[in-house]
Amino acid sequence: MPRADEIDAGDSAVLAAVVAALPEPLIVTDRAGSVLAFNSPALSAWPGLGRGRPLSLAVRSPEVLAAVDRLQRGEERATAQYAERVPVERIYEVVLSVVEVRTAEGRAPTFLLAFRDRTEQHRLDMMRVDFVANASHELRTPLASLLGFIETLQGPAREDASARERFLQIMRQQAQRMARLIDDLLSLSRVEMAEHRRPETPVDLAAIASQMVDTLRPLADERDVVISFSGPAGGAIVPGDRDDLMRVAENLIENAIKYGQSGGRVDVSVAIEDESPGRQQAILAVRDYGPGIAPEHVPRLTERFYRVDTGQSRGQGGTGLGLALVKHVVNRHRGRLTIESRPGEGAVFRVTLPAGDSVSRA
Ligand code: ADP
Repeated sequence: MPRADEIDAGDSAVLAAVVAALPEPLIVTDRAGSVLAFNSPALSAWPGLGRGRPLSLAVRSPEVLAAVDRLQRGEERATAQYAERVPVERIYEVVLSVVEVRTAEGRAPTFLLAFRDRTEQHRLDMMRVDFVANASHELRTPLASLLGFIETLQGPAREDASARERFLQIMRQQAQRMARLIDDLLSLSRVEMAEHRRPETPVDLAAIASQMVDTLRPLADERDVVISFSGPAGGAIVPGDRDDLMRVAENLIENAIKYGQSGGRVDVSVAIEDESPGRQQAILAVRDYGPGIAPEHVPRLTERFYRVDTGQSRGQGGTGLGLALVKHVVNRHRGRLTIESRPGEGAVFRVTLPAGDSVSRA
């Protein structure tokens, strides 16, 4: 009776077939560490692999080779982590085990190296760590300033009425900034949690955008920005979440007014277009004529807390979370966000959502 960890189908051809069928990299070596078999995912990860060649020439990882060494010294199983940072980051968890295989020469112990790709998981872990660090840092700054002013008011400025007024005003701003940050963090986590549920209620994207233009007109007036709106006469119905789409329009239009103020003009438009025959899409475009955004920043704008100029963003009451929120809402609606900008010529933020027609067919 073969043991459970022995391959007993008679020959190494079975092993080769199993190796070939597995979707993740797998390498088989003999006891000496010479490669016997590998599959194509392994070959694309380590192009230096070749039958009969030492494993150490292709997979240059001290940790993996140390684990092979442990098997050679009699251990049945070992694990290792394979990490490579250049040219691209790749992280694998490697499980090494010993399997008896019958070959022409008789039974021989062979080593199986099974790789599991953990790159994505690792990236997500790092993002989470960064996120917590960033969020704490963003909250700590206004908190430290609040504490400082409280101490001053309790001590040196106790009897100074005019200083008190001034400090209270600043404290109020700092507290409002913390409140905004927490509101944005909560909205972001709410949208993220709902991301897999696509909204279905028909809403009018044109009405939402036009309402937001009216709401933000006082802000535009305050900054001498002329804001215009155009939309299709019959509206632009999309399956959507009204509150979330309001936030999208609010963030994009507010950014255009704030960061594009020097252009003096913001154009908001909603249009319905044919995506393909019988399928329509609604497009919300927000265009400003301000300084624009340098190309190296554009792909990163939707990252949480990413800002071209942190001081400027904070000065405008920004949290650095607005576009991250926009992107999540757009994803939830199975839409697209595109950003076009040429420095000096302003920027256009476009949100494209599948419109009513395509949904009723889906
Ligand atoms: P916030 O405005 O709170 O800083 P956002 O996520 O909304 O955060 O925007 C991120 C950054 O993108 C802003 O800090 C700003 O640097 C840049 N940005 C956004 N919209 C524009 C725009 N219309 N023109 C120029 N820069 C912009």
